[in-house]
Amino acid sequence: MANENKIGVIGAGTMGAGIAQVAVQGGFECVVYDIAQDFLDRGLGRIRSFIGRGREKGNIDAREEADILGRLQGSLALEDLSDAVLVIEAATENLPVKRELFQKLDAACAPETLLATNTSSLSVTAIGGAVRDATRVLGMHFFNPAPLMALVEVVQGELTSDATVAKAMDVTRRFGKTPVRAKDTPGFIVNRIARPFYNEALRILGDGGTDVETVDRIMRESGGFRMGPFELQDLIGIDINFTATETLYHAFFEDPRFRPSPLQQKLYLAGHLGRKTGKGFYNYEPK
Ligand code: NAD
Repeated sequence: MANENKIGVIGAGTMGAGIAQVAVQGGFECVVYDIAQDFLDRGLGRIRSFIGRGREKGNIDAREEADILGRLQGSLALEDLSDAVLVIEAATENLPVKRELFQKLDAACAPETLLATNTSSLSVTAIGGAVRDATRVLGMHFFNPAPLMALVEVVQGELTSDATVAKAMDVTRRFGKTPVRAKDTPGFIVNRIARPFYNEALRILGDGGTDVETVDRIMRESGGFRMGPFELQDLIGIDINFTATETLYHAFFEDPRFRPSPLQQKLYLAGHLGRKTGKGFYNYEPK
C-alpha cells in the first residue's frame, strides 16, 4: 500500500534536488535516489543550504527547518522508494537510461505508485512503454530553479489514465505549485512556444538586421520580457538550448519552423556555451 505522504525522486542533480526540496517544503517525506553517494551528498547539501538561508532570512524558524530537513532522506537503493505515492524521475535526459529506470521502478514500486518523468523533450509515451501498466506513467515537467518557478506541466501520455493526471495535479497543488495539463507532444507547451522566441531572434541576427544587445534590450524594455533571447540562451547554456531545438526539429519530422540555426550551432561546436564557459553571445570573462 502506498504512503500518501511520501514522494520518491530519482537523481539528485539540478532538477532532482530542487523537486525534492519542493516536496519536503510541501509537507511530504521525500527519499532521493542516485547512483553514487557523492551525487547524493552534493544534492542534499544544496537543499540544506537553501533551507538554511531561508531560516537566516527569517522566513522559517529553527524548528521548521529541522522539521523540513527531517523529512528528507537520500538512498542508493531503489527499494526505499517502493511505497511512495509518486516517484518523479529527474535523471539524465537519455531515453534508454530512463526506460531502464522505469522498468526497475515497475518491479520495485507498489502497483498504485504513480511514476512521473521530468523529461524536457523526450516522449512520455515512449518512456511509459517500459512499464507493464502505462496508465500510471506521466510527465511532470518542473522548471529551473524548481523551488522558485510556480508552473508544472502535467503531461498525459497516450496511455496515461485520467485518474493518474488528476492525482498528479492534486499533488502538484499540495507542493504549492500551479499545474497545467499538457498533451504528450514534443516540447509540451512552454518549450515548444519558446523555440520561435530563440529561432527568430537568431534569424534576425543572421539577416544582419541588428545586433544581440539591441534585440535583448527591445524585448526587455518594450516586450515586457525579463530577459532577451540571447542573454537567456547564455544563461540556460547554448548546448542545452541547441540540443532541445534539434530534438524538437526531429520530433516534428523536420518541420522547417523548428530548424536549428547555424549561428547557434557554431557557438555550440566552438564550446562557447554561455555563462558557464565564460563566453556565448556575450563575453563574461573578467576584463
Ligand atoms: P543533472 O545532470 O543536474 O542531474 C542528473 C542526476 O541524475 C545526476 O545526479 C546523476 O547522477 C543522476 N543519474 C543519472 N543516471 C541515473 C540513474 N540511472 N539512476 C539514478 N540517478 C541517475 O540533470 P538535470 O539538469 O537535473 O536534468 C534532469 C532531468 O530534468 C532531465 O530529464 C532534464 O531534461 C530535465 N529538466 C532539466 C531542466 C534544467 O533546466 N536543467 C529543466 C527541466 C527539466
